[in-house]
Amino acid sequence: METDTITAISTPMGEGAIAIVRLSGPEAVSISNELFQGKDLSKADSHTMHYGKIIDPETNEVAEEVMVSIMRAPKTFTREDVVEINCHGGLVSVNRVLEIVLAKGARLAEPGEFTKRAFLNGRIDLSQAEAVMDLIRAKTDRAMNVALKQMDGRLSKLIQSLRQKLLETLAHVEVNIDYPEYDDVEEMSHNMMEEKTKEVLEEVKKLLQTAQQGKILREGLATAIIGRPNVGKSSLMNALVHENKAIVTEVPGTTRDVIEEYVNVRGVPLRLVDTAGIRETEDIVERIGVEKSRQVLKEADLILLVLNYGDELTAEDEKLFEAVRDLDVIVIVNKTDLEPQLDMERVQTLADKHPVITTALLHEKGIDELEQAISQVFFEGELDTGDMTYVSNVRHVQLLKQAKQALEDALNGMEMDMPIDMVQIDVTRTWEILGEIVGDTVHESLIDQLFSQFCLGK
Ligand code: GDP
Repeated sequence: METDTITAISTPMGEGAIAIVRLSGPEAVSISNELFQGKDLSKADSHTMHYGKIIDPETNEVAEEVMVSIMRAPKTFTREDVVEINCHGGLVSVNRVLEIVLAKGARLAEPGEFTKRAFLNGRIDLSQAEAVMDLIRAKTDRAMNVALKQMDGRLSKLIQSLRQKLLETLAHVEVNIDYPEYDDVEEMSHNMMEEKTKEVLEEVKKLLQTAQQGKILREGLATAIIGRPNVGKSSLMNALVHENKAIVTEVPGTTRDVIEEYVNVRGVPLRLVDTAGIRETEDIVERIGVEKSRQVLKEADLILLVLNYGDELTAEDEKLFEAVRDLDVIVIVNKTDLEPQLDMERVQTLADKHPVITTALLHEKGIDELEQAISQVFFEGELDTGDMTYVSNVRHVQLLKQAKQALEDALNGMEMDMPIDMVQIDVTRTWEILGEIVGDTVHESLIDQLFSQFCLGK
């Protein structure tokens, strides 16, 4: 248990109906009681709320009218005594309350420190703590659902059950080695190890398969708009952004230098990638060559390829088709208000199985159909947040990949008839790697780094 009492403003900065100053630690109640005029908080029952005033110790005047919640350990978020002071919204008054709390001996919390204490005090595991962060950052309802489930401990339970299975296997094999009552002990150990390793490997693979969809849920469907100059790429971009509520216009605090727009198209989170660059992708194929541009485009989950109905199909258009052939593409034939010049039959042939939508963006025509097509592409990917456990966190995905490798090493070892204790090393390693997901075997510096990504007051 930590010995000092931390505090922070736990609500977003800015105007709001209320703002909360939160305290956690052994002195949380006594510090609050010193500032508070009203009921004697030291005698207040746990999980009760009290009306009163905060008195400024310098001037002895009333600094703020508040409601104070008292939550005593251990049934709190951090498992320590927690006090929440509900102030009136204004930035000045809530900051004043924070200053007074600090003056009375609380320490300003570091970002994520409340959640870190919850983790260190065993209330939640690491993947649940990370879910708290995901929840704060969730840009779509679906991403929020996934985060909520993870917070609920679904992923943790699954990971722990896999670790348990590995541990039991290791223990059995150990016993077999120590007490070789049977002649075929070597073979028994081998068979059991192989069977269990395969089972766990299957589960790990299944989880990894959800990672791509998890990423989409978390970050939105990465969408690139490509096409020759002047076909209407910017118009398309604007239409999508204006028709649909833009979720966020920038990703704060990331090192990415590309601009991204988030829009919500019929419940599908789209991340329109590199919107500045999109306007320059006109000669993307020419500039960087077909192979390379395929590589760039592959990173997109969805490609909107725009053509001009009032223009003949050019070699460059054909090159673009070639570059996106095996990807998820929607072909958009724009400017249908113009005299037809485009060979639609050829377009259909090139588009093959991909949908072709006609639009006249200038006249706001065809946008509905396009949105329909986008949601179809998305939902046919059978994205279902129902009961599945999704892995969406980059750190988890990396660890699962390592676990997969270690399990495959173990299986290879068995195939090559390596001694069982060599195989045990790989299985033990898997157990450790999986432990890092839930935070059982994780290094302290990583914990510090993870929690520092939280926002203040969480
Ligand atoms: P980009 O270079 O591909 O980004 O193309 P823009 O979106 O900037 O559009 C190029 C020009 O085509 C602009 O003058 C648009 O107003 C015009 N434009 C876009 N959509 C249509 C359309 O459906 N019909 C007509 N006639 N013009 C359009």
